[in-house]
Amino acid sequence: KIELAKRVKTLTPSTTLAITAKAKEMKAEGYDVIGLGAGEPDFNTPQHIIDAAIQSMEAGHTKYTPAGGLPALKKEVAAKLKKDQGLDYEQKEIIVTSGAKHALYTLFQVLLDEGDEVIIPIPYWVSYPEQVKLAGGTPVYIEGSETNDFKITPEQLEESISDKTKAVIINSPSNPTGMVYSKDELKALGEICIARGVLIVSDEIYEKLMYGENKHISIAEISPELKAQTILINGVSKSHSMTGWRIGYAAGDSEIIKAMTDLASHSTSNPTSNAQYATIAAYSGSQEPVEVMRRAFESRLDIIHAKLIEIPGVTCIKPQGAFYLFPNVKEAAKITGCKDVDQFVERLLTEEQVAVVPGSGFGSPDNIRLSYATSLELLENAVERIMNFVKSNQ
Ligand code: PLP
Repeated sequence: KIELAKRVKTLTPSTTLAITAKAKEMKAEGYDVIGLGAGEPDFNTPQHIIDAAIQSMEAGHTKYTPAGGLPALKKEVAAKLKKDQGLDYEQKEIIVTSGAKHALYTLFQVLLDEGDEVIIPIPYWVSYPEQVKLAGGTPVYIEGSETNDFKITPEQLEESISDKTKAVIINSPSNPTGMVYSKDELKALGEICIARGVLIVSDEIYEKLMYGENKHISIAEISPELKAQTILINGVSKSHSMTGWRIGYAAGDSEIIKAMTDLASHSTSNPTSNAQYATIAAYSGSQEPVEVMRRAFESRLDIIHAKLIEIPGVTCIKPQGAFYLFPNVKEAAKITGCKDVDQFVERLLTEEQVAVVPGSGFGSPDNIRLSYATSLELLENAVERIMNFVKSNQ
């Protein structure tokens, strides 16, 4: 028997993908399952983006590109960061990657030595701890308490920094909570990072999905010092409904970006060529489709959030961005006789055929994550089923 490498022995598959797979399996068996596990917009990629990809293939752009991405795409990424964030990045400070996920993976690979620490706020996106561990790093968790909208405080950050701390991850808007850090909150966290020499990894993938009066602020735009201290991560998966195209990017210090590009040259070679051409169109064309999708998410959020908090034993802070709700269902689990929230999730799936993701996968065992990247009709039906489950098992 061939032994697997030690580094993958503790690797856990993504909880989100696991629940999606289970729901699909039940659907195939004929069950009427409503899946609220999805981490992707339910809209098609806008047509002009698809057309650009087709045209690029017909024009023969089907070959390797530079490892760090097409110069023409880097130019569009730089223009986007200038327009939206007011930030100036040179081409050598940008790498285009196979999705934001791979930008993060590559970043940790070039950044971490065995035992280096990365501070990860709880609740966290499931891939952060695994990616840090795969690079030999050690995740150090700080809990963003629910009473502070799941956000970490400067005091918590200060206390968790050691002489091994290399970086801290800030994900705003957050997956799974939908919470957004204000400019003042980011400034306070950023000042500590500058003083203690900690790199800020700013994952801004949900930037375009902001609701109400909330505005997205990149920590890098607060001051030139913070820009220098930050690697900004973003991409088109969520903003332009392009999850399957796999295009993301990182922007920041040219030495780090160069190391990431060298690593990419030995791992991916380059992000898929026609997906890069599609992304040029995504950024250079009309942004109206982005806004249309955002509005659709916002109206679903307003309706579903109001219904969700009527369920006995369920509380839920109203998200400010992204497309997830992260209700606390500890009480609901208790009153339905479940031993914990994981069991509540299991029973929701088997008894009411509603698939949600247990918060334990994000480090928050009292919560569940519901994605509202699905039709309003299905969402309303799902919330009714959860209500029914709680009421009939009380
Ligand atoms: N960061 C967060 C917080 C996410 O939720 C996701 C996708 O689920 C990603 C990054 C990765 O996005 P991409 O599809 O660009 O790899």
